[in-house]
Amino acid sequence: MVTYGFVIDNRKCIGCHACTVACKAENEVPIGVNRTWVKYIEKGEFPLTQRKFSVMRCNHCADAPCVEICPVTALYTRPDGIVDFDSQRCIGCKACMQACPYDAIYIDPNDQTAAKCNYCSHRTDVGLAPPCVTVCPTHAIICGDLDDPGSEIASLVSREAVQVRKPEKGTDPKLFYIDGDAASLDPTAASPADSYMWSQGGGETFETPRALSGPAGPDPASGLAGRLGTLARRVYDAPRERMVWGWKVSLYILTKAVAAGAFAIPLLAFGPGQPPGPMGWTGALLGLIFLGWTGLLLIQDLRRMDRFLYIFLRPQWKSWLVKGGYVLFGFGGVLGLWLISGILGGRAFQSALTWPGVALSFLAAVYTAFLFAQAKGRDFWQSPLLPVHMLLHAVLAGGAVLLLFSPFFPAAAGDRLREILLGGLGVSFLAFMGELFFPHSTKDARAAAQMILRGPGAILFWGGVVALGHGAAAGLLLSGIGGLEVLSAPLILGGVFVAAHLWVTIPQRIPLS
Ligand code: SF4
Repeated sequence: MVTYGFVIDNRKCIGCHACTVACKAENEVPIGVNRTWVKYIEKGEFPLTQRKFSVMRCNHCADAPCVEICPVTALYTRPDGIVDFDSQRCIGCKACMQACPYDAIYIDPNDQTAAKCNYCSHRTDVGLAPPCVTVCPTHAIICGDLDDPGSEIASLVSREAVQVRKPEKGTDPKLFYIDGDAASLDPTAASPADSYMWSQGGGETFETPRALSGPAGPDPASGLAGRLGTLARRVYDAPRERMVWGWKVSLYILTKAVAAGAFAIPLLAFGPGQPPGPMGWTGALLGLIFLGWTGLLLIQDLRRMDRFLYIFLRPQWKSWLVKGGYVLFGFGGVLGLWLISGILGGRAFQSALTWPGVALSFLAAVYTAFLFAQAKGRDFWQSPLLPVHMLLHAVLAGGAVLLLFSPFFPAAAGDRLREILLGGLGVSFLAFMGELFFPHSTKDARAAAQMILRGPGAILFWGGVVALGHGAAAGLLLSGIGGLEVLSAPLILGGVFVAAHLWVTIPQRIPLS
């Protein structure tokens, strides 16, 4: 058994960047992205200051979340423990970038596929060490077989006190730091800035929310250790692309919710055994249209749209991107058959399709929560309430789109729709409050909640989601005036979109390295 790993010996690193340059030369890494880079942290106040260097790269995790989420096995673990990638398979979905808790993956600007440190597997295969190891002038990077008790790396790991980044993620990293500095290894201890000495930060600043600043540091008056322990700041880093999922993903959550809710609500509201009334037919037709739009958005968000069929042709079944793709495909098929059989008068067949259709609409509504949960880098997405939010999005968004057509429905159908929407708004409000105000188990999740409640997302959340999307919409629904009730539909749809957008983007503002 062979398990390759790295040790970074911070007692020896002089921050010369030779490893970064050697890696770039060996692997022809384009300008603006890096497979390995050196982060500088400074601590204390002049003249009592220290500078710490940390070499960052893929940790070759034994339990790698990037491998689990990859829909097409473009990322895979070799038998020798190296987490490698195959750019010929990659579809550029960027899910691996959300899954990696260590910010190790980038999109290659030349071929728009994911890439990262792969331990220079082409050299390892012929018995050579990665060039970052051979070029290091102080032997601060040590590679080798962790399972060989006679190797230098195994001896260092067993003899020295070593640290790994984010052990709480349970990824079993195979990159160990000797004398690792806590403020360097914790991405939020010293926040990124938009410029550093000798480099730009990539234009992504991060203002540390109170949830991340933790308890006050040692008293500066308590001597050298205390003064060096405070005021850690990041003074040099490589730019990273953080916001890799944007409005297309938020919009896809909305369109998928409309498709699921519009089909299921009329059938469940009046009993699946009943012949579909005007609301049932409208819902199924809207479901199909919005499902098609969902598929287009999913494809458009791929950096390699030309390879989108790989999801179906080369599936990696642990990935919820694959499972979700098949759910959407199956839902579309059943919806289409349901409509066609109804139009052709095959009532019995249409009725037989109702329950499978409702089950698939439920799965279409909630599967995204499981996909987001596989994105281990984002703590806020690990919430057990996420499937509940997704289901409520379907009730609200599907119901709101149906409401636009309610003047053409029988009065009883319109009344039932209003009851469903009012109930959905009440439960959704409680679910949001529970999510944001109940304690979170990690500081990143706490920080995301605080950024939505009081930080950069606050105006959109309180104004768009709560006041307009819930409060004003409920007021209009309760008004009892037909024209005003219909006006609540765009407010509800806007509220669902804004909530989805905040949930997608705010956690991505928290740095991972
Ligand atoms: Fe490397 Fe990140 Fe994948 Fe771990 S999750 S193997 S650090 S890319």
